[in-house]
Amino acid sequence: MNIVRPARSHPLYDDIVGIVGEDRVNDNQVIISSYSKDASHLTAERPGIVVMPESVEEIQAIVRLCAAHKVPLVSAGGRNGICGACLPRVKNAVMLDMVKMDNIVKLDEDVMTVTVEAGLRWAELIHRLDERGYKLGFRGPYGGNVGTVAGSISSNSIGYAASKFGPANEGVVSLEVVLANGEILRTGTGWNPDAQLFGRYSAYNDLTGLFLGDYGTLGVKTKVTLKIYPKAEHLAFGDFGFKTLEDATAAFLEIQKRGLTEELNLLADRQSTDTFFPGFLDSHPEINAMFAAVVQEDDEGLARRKMEIVREVALKHGAKDLGNFASQMHWGEMFNLVQPLFNNGFWLNTCHLRPIPSVPIVMKRLWAIFKKYNMPKNGVKWIASCLGSERAYTTGWFTIFTPHRDRMDEVLRVWNEMLDVIIETGGCPYWSGMLWENRVLARTDKTFLDTYRTVKRALDPDNIFNPHVFEGV
Ligand SMILES: Cc1cc2nc3c(=O)[nH]c(=O)nc-3n(C[C@H](O)[C@H](O)[C@H](O)COP(=O)(O)OP(=O)(O)OC[C@H]3O[C@@H](n4cnc5c(N)ncnc54)[C@H](O)[C@@H]3O)c2cc1C
Repeated sequence: MNIVRPARSHPLYDDIVGIVGEDRVNDNQVIISSYSKDASHLTAERPGIVVMPESVEEIQAIVRLCAAHKVPLVSAGGRNGICGACLPRVKNAVMLDMVKMDNIVKLDEDVMTVTVEAGLRWAELIHRLDERGYKLGFRGPYGGNVGTVAGSISSNSIGYAASKFGPANEGVVSLEVVLANGEILRTGTGWNPDAQLFGRYSAYNDLTGLFLGDYGTLGVKTKVTLKIYPKAEHLAFGDFGFKTLEDATAAFLEIQKRGLTEELNLLADRQSTDTFFPGFLDSHPEINAMFAAVVQEDDEGLARRKMEIVREVALKHGAKDLGNFASQMHWGEMFNLVQPLFNNGFWLNTCHLRPIPSVPIVMKRLWAIFKKYNMPKNGVKWIASCLGSERAYTTGWFTIFTPHRDRMDEVLRVWNEMLDVIIETGGCPYWSGMLWENRVLARTDKTFLDTYRTVKRALDPDNIFNPHVFEGV
């Protein structure tokens, strides 16, 4: 980090050097500036100083230092979020860049868990497990080349294989967290120092859940224990097109309810398919919505049979069999699938969850907005993509692309109208951050918010961790 010389002007610079040495701390504006953005267009305060810890002991010492001086501390993973979550809301914060803490601590084959350091990236973890004959359930957000395990579970990520295994947090068994007083909390079966980390719920309340989706407001996650499964080699793919979004949604719901697929992704209109897979629907003029289905099993016959059932359900709802290009591409490209979409311009996301039957309802409202702003004619593309999640709900990944920087204001107007419609039609954001926070707070039940704030005050009385998050921007 220190090819760029530190300014040494942050009040805690010397103390932090005393903890981690000179090489992993910097407060030069060049470095700070590169830490002042995530993958969204959102902006907040720059951190005052950045430090890259390599051990839990270093983190404990930094937390104690920040608490003693009442200096805010913000944890960052890959800074790959698209909602501004890792950006400090206050000046002069200490930012912990966690990516040097990226070891696999223990692969426990007896109880089928893997314990990793918080800053490990999903792509690396998947690769390392694959070599040992295992897979994760949830396999990371689609930005998993960069996103870290702790960043994802702190921000309720949804993505790869969520159709079968649910969101990131469903895969978590236990956490190690450094609390505001510098002590280490181990959750799940971790309350018993002699126990293996195999279960989330035992003897006490579920303290793991308290820290999942907390956006780093309650502590610094240092280790995460995740469920693992035997690697399953047999894949079956299927793409199905429908004349109407209503038909596609009905089939999608039935397949998701029956838990047939590892991954099930609905593209709600032709524009969405054209943006993802240009030309794919050119010879199918009657098709207006499609989904791509992926089955993965350790038995070839079972994989084939499950895909046959998916096909039967789809055809029952009027589908046309489109082969398997889109589903193979979707699965095979993995974390490289969505980056090329930046070629369409800068993304503005609306990531949220919703019941599957509400997809046509929200889409009608969104199409009206797209029409009002004459979007296709103005060169503004969109993708309305719905990833089946867990039993029977879906993500709404309704993204618009800003073709040129000078169109940003106009596209932001469209985006803000979309965000309102999504909330009004019962959508619940999976991320919060600066993207959603004000809209979420405006609707949050008072008792819910008071309870969260009581927990925050009890665990972090000096409000050291990510101050102002969940307070509005
Ligand atoms: C191309 C692309 C595709 C993407 N696809 C998806 C997708 O499919 N699904 C999805 O959900 N997201 C997606 N994202 C967004 C992003 O990848 C995820 O949200 C990811 O989980 C963020 O992880 P991160 O390590 O970058 O976290 P950061 O952005 O660094 O941080 C996120 C939050 O976690 C907190 N945090 C980080 N580490 C710790 C820690 N050790 N202890 C406590 N708090 C911590 C931060 O303070 C912040 O509040 C995508 C992004 C891109 C650019």
